[in-house]
Amino acid sequence: MMMQFEPVIGLEIHAQLLTKSKIFCACSTAFGASPNTHTCPVCLGMPGVLPVLNRQVVEFALKMALATHCRIAPYSQFARKNYFYPDLPKGYQISQYELPLAENGWIEIDTGETPKRVRIHRIHMEEDAGKLIHDEHNRLSYVDFNRTGVPLIEIVSEPDLGSPAEAADYLRKLRDILRYLEICDGNMEEGSFRCDANISLRPVGSKALGVKTELKNMNSFRNVQRALEFEMRRQQALLQRGDRIVQETRLWDNDRGVTVSMRGKEEAHDYRYFPDPDLVPLVIDNEWIERVALSLPELPDAKRQRFAEDYHLPLYDAQVLTASRDLADYFETVVKEFPEPKVVSNWIMSELMRELNRDEKDISACPVPPANLAELLKLMKTGVISGKIAKTVFQQMYGTGQSAKTIVEEKGLLQVTDASAIESVIEEVLQANPSEVEQYRGGKQKLLGYFVGEVMKKTRGKANPQLVNEILRGKLG
Ligand SMILES: [Zn+2]
Repeated sequence: MMMQFEPVIGLEIHAQLLTKSKIFCACSTAFGASPNTHTCPVCLGMPGVLPVLNRQVVEFALKMALATHCRIAPYSQFARKNYFYPDLPKGYQISQYELPLAENGWIEIDTGETPKRVRIHRIHMEEDAGKLIHDEHNRLSYVDFNRTGVPLIEIVSEPDLGSPAEAADYLRKLRDILRYLEICDGNMEEGSFRCDANISLRPVGSKALGVKTELKNMNSFRNVQRALEFEMRRQQALLQRGDRIVQETRLWDNDRGVTVSMRGKEEAHDYRYFPDPDLVPLVIDNEWIERVALSLPELPDAKRQRFAEDYHLPLYDAQVLTASRDLADYFETVVKEFPEPKVVSNWIMSELMRELNRDEKDISACPVPPANLAELLKLMKTGVISGKIAKTVFQQMYGTGQSAKTIVEEKGLLQVTDASAIESVIEEVLQANPSEVEQYRGGKQKLLGYFVGEVMKKTRGKANPQLVNEILRGKLG
């Protein structure tokens, strides 16, 4: 019988913090500058310079640690991680090793019925390395030190993730939290949010951990999941043949859809860590922790629950609307003006998001301000325009940025609620369709829909459908 295996997955995430300056010097962190213009003797690792810790980095790291229920170390330390690489001018990276900023946290991910708790092993601060640019045509390599010293936090999970899909969910949740906190833009494609994954297999039911491999070079949520799925199959095939897994680092090759061996996995002792003698230990008192805790915004889980309860929304709606802080704020602003949450939710999730997705636009770039959507919904609710017309008006609002009222007035889209006007159109329709009228009177009731359709056609959708129905029934009855 074939032995069944289950994956054990842990993720290491690097999140670039949105501070204005680097972690140990005053150089700018702005993206996109000419190479090597955001540098100074400190981040270039010149002899005799001293790093000075950026207080904002600690504040941001504390926010993430508190948002993920970590225990904050009252005393933590920076350490040197020694290795040689052309993008690392000092020959070491300043990171945290034995005494990290925070440990023992958790977040919850949704796995169907009940949320699953994924433990966070540690969160620590460190500096980024430079960037190598390879010109393969001319067989040259360039190095840009603008990124050297840009602040990162590394978030290391426990191996609690039981499938590639769970890993992707965890990753999304962490990114949502970072974005809610406004401390990282979460952009995987641009590398400001990076993920390495550890994966091993073990026989189903076993508690022991198998030999793991580390996967790198996955620059989207989808690639993380695909790389883990591939690696699971690869390891399973080896184990079923009776072969051993080699502990190593493997690169995801997105074009071929496979992982390839990169190098043997380093052990911690390969880096010869030791406390950085240039930086004093970091002491964080309770007052500082409390102040940061008070500054935390409402986080995704809490907001989703509040949306479901206070607005009586289905969980699905609450989840979609709280995916970002901006979208949640948009919804709440509209509801303040037009207090029918489910109607607002439907409009945002269908009409609005369809347009935004098509243009690949974020809600922050939405051309329809919340007040304008509220106005449109009021016009519909009070019968000034029909629901069908409202959708057309919305598309024009989105395209032009104009208000609902302006469009309705300019295009003459006001709903016809004048009974005598509707009555005359109905008369026309009935006179033009004598045989249908006869059939209806003879018992073919479903022809009512046909008459309604004809009236709407003649009024170009502007007749109030309720009135049309009422009058038609009276006339035909
Ligand atoms: Zn610098």
